[in-house]
Amino acid sequence: MSDTAVTTATKIVRRPAAAKSWDVEADICVAGAGITGISAAIEAARLGRRVVLVDSLPALGGQAVNSIIGTFCGMFHNGPDRYQFTYGIADEILTDLGASGDLYYRIGPGWTTVFYDEVALGRWIEEAVKKAGIEMVLGANIRAASFENRRIQELDISTRYGDVRVHADGFVDASGDAVLAWLAGLECREPADGPIYGTQMVVLENVHMDKQPSREELAARMEEKAREYGVVREDGLAFFFEGKDTVALNMTHMETPLEPLAASKMGLEGRAQTRNAIDFLKSEFPDCFRDASVRAYGFPGIRQTRWIKGAYQLNVEDVRSGKEFDDAVARTAWGLEIHDDKHKLYWEGFDKGPHVHQVPLSTMISADADNLVAAGRCIDGDVAALSSVRVMGPCMAMGAAAAHSLDLAGSGSVHQIDMAALKDRLKDNLERRDYRDEACP
Ligand SMILES: Cc1cc2nc3c(=O)[nH]c(=O)nc-3n(C[C@H](O)[C@H](O)[C@H](O)COP(=O)(O)OP(=O)(O)OC[C@H]3O[C@@H](n4cnc5c(N)ncnc54)[C@H](O)[C@@H]3O)c2cc1C
Repeated sequence: MSDTAVTTATKIVRRPAAAKSWDVEADICVAGAGITGISAAIEAARLGRRVVLVDSLPALGGQAVNSIIGTFCGMFHNGPDRYQFTYGIADEILTDLGASGDLYYRIGPGWTTVFYDEVALGRWIEEAVKKAGIEMVLGANIRAASFENRRIQELDISTRYGDVRVHADGFVDASGDAVLAWLAGLECREPADGPIYGTQMVVLENVHMDKQPSREELAARMEEKAREYGVVREDGLAFFFEGKDTVALNMTHMETPLEPLAASKMGLEGRAQTRNAIDFLKSEFPDCFRDASVRAYGFPGIRQTRWIKGAYQLNVEDVRSGKEFDDAVARTAWGLEIHDDKHKLYWEGFDKGPHVHQVPLSTMISADADNLVAAGRCIDGDVAALSSVRVMGPCMAMGAAAAHSLDLAGSGSVHQIDMAALKDRLKDNLERRDYRDEACP
């Protein structure tokens, strides 16, 4: 080719009569690459299992990265004694993103939450998944699950490049919407008294951090004036990332229906609400927000839609009383955070401590299935109980628990695993009490 030549050659192609499809064999298939599925997949791979991770997004990280949730909740004990609850990848993320300056610990009066840079978290996840040797099928919609003899046998998946079938001994349902349980024909639950609202997150940049309103000031002004700006939600939150000039706004409430046409509209509704919230902030707090502009919208954030009917349903009294379970696999102290009212959320914190509540394995497994473990926001709880344990600290612990349960079960049943062995493997997430200076008042 001469220096000025450009590539010009083409070839004729035509779809073959028999469309090609792909078959993937694994020990453990994880459906959903959100923070829960990432924890499950990495943990299972580190146990030496062949893992395939499937997600309908063309990227890893689920809502944690792509909806820009922005804050890890439920990772630390409340009150004055703020030890860490969850280890495994949660610990590694805190250490690595802390070292790169991508975290900010917000020390509240009774609790500590951790703000993270979503770009850095996304990169961390990509590298960790690659290093663990996990097979991925992304941009992949799970459309059928064959279920026989109490086991999921195979998943039927469509991608823009062709169809994929996945066979595995065990399956983790980390889809958030209990997709595997639903497609397998197992009983699932939905909220009975109306929707749990989702939120369109948005990140603003060029914020004057030194002029930021206090949480109380913002709350009071929203209550007084939000409606004048057409802001639907009157108790929205702003997460100012100290050390940067950005704020993540959690200020909208839109329905997140499990129906394709209505679901497609929710993003537009969320963005319209966001626009009103930004107008409100610019007008009411001009010193802080006058130069602010949108850096990024997340994908619509979905909280509680459909979840499994487990062997046990965690209930609100279990959470309030800190009930201890023989089959506990995760712990947290996050409060009841119920988004069932378009205008306000219900919050019942356990901020004074000491308080710990647990997630038992029996909420993660269906009585009718032997090789399926749900984890994350689609385990079984009543609406209030689930609102507490679906935050990301316990989600990561549940992901690890799902991996270990299926590893112990092998080709047997998750209902018959050695519980003492499981709890021994998970003892960090049940008993360990490390302190991080940054998390303590
Ligand atoms: C707006 C909002 C704010 C929140 N704020 C906080 C907070 O500040 N701190 C906190 O700790 N928690 C917060 N939460 C809760 C927390 O973010 C979620 O509950 C948590 O991220 C759930 O993680 P997950 O991995 O279980 O689910 P997800 O992150 O939802 O991941 C599920 C994955 O499954 C995939 N999937 C679904 N169906 C299919 C299918 N058919 N085929 C293939 N893939 C499929 C999805 O694409 C998705 O990537 C918030 C939630 C929302 C919505």
